[in-house]
Amino acid sequence: MNKSGLVVQESISPAAGCVALTFDDGPHPEYTPRLLDVLARYEVRASFFLVGRRAARYSALVRRIAQQGHEIGNHTYSHPVSPILNYRAMRGEVADAHKAIADITGTEPRYFRPTWALWDWFHAAMERSVRELGYISVRWSKSSYDWMGVPFLMRRSLLGGEVSPGDIFLLHDGAEKSLWGKRDSTISILPALVRSIRACGLRVGLLEETMSRGENRGQNFQKKEGVWEKKRP
Ligand SMILES: [Zn+2]
Repeated sequence: MNKSGLVVQESISPAAGCVALTFDDGPHPEYTPRLLDVLARYEVRASFFLVGRRAARYSALVRRIAQQGHEIGNHTYSHPVSPILNYRAMRGEVADAHKAIADITGTEPRYFRPTWALWDWFHAAMERSVRELGYISVRWSKSSYDWMGVPFLMRRSLLGGEVSPGDIFLLHDGAEKSLWGKRDSTISILPALVRSIRACGLRVGLLEETMSRGENRGQNFQKKEGVWEKKRP
């Protein structure tokens, strides 16, 4: 880290294969600052899919995320149960979050993470909205299951399997009470996760690097009408 607190380099060669860490549902006044401290300590840059109304409420945190060199993506304005929204409402959700983030950071977000993406067979309206607004929709290849609040399951899914170049990890820093809302175990597992990624000869990068190399895509992702999406089984 340099004097201004910006992460300037990874400790692994830039030529190494890349994976991305993504954090959804923030910013959160308690968990996001702690997470940012850990990421800075390990010189890792990650991608944050922010909920627009939370971004507007905690704008200083949004600026800190950007200042530390992390990437900021759009995760709708109010985190609606997206499968039941119509096209027009969904488009409003994406556009409102876009404006909230761009107003704070001065940078237009490019990546979108669907809400309730486990139910992705319902998501036609959302995918259409984001594509028309110029977004790249990003799923994941490795879920932390941190939202289930079972640390054992999280350790097994994050540290138990092989990591391949191009993998995208799904974690959460934001927390709603209704969603088993504690993120202490997400934050405490991060050092071990970063070490295990580096032990595989890989480095943590931003989505652009991770997705542009085309690694692991055949296994987990396909590009359909300009949108990278997880392959359906
Ligand atoms: Zn979410």
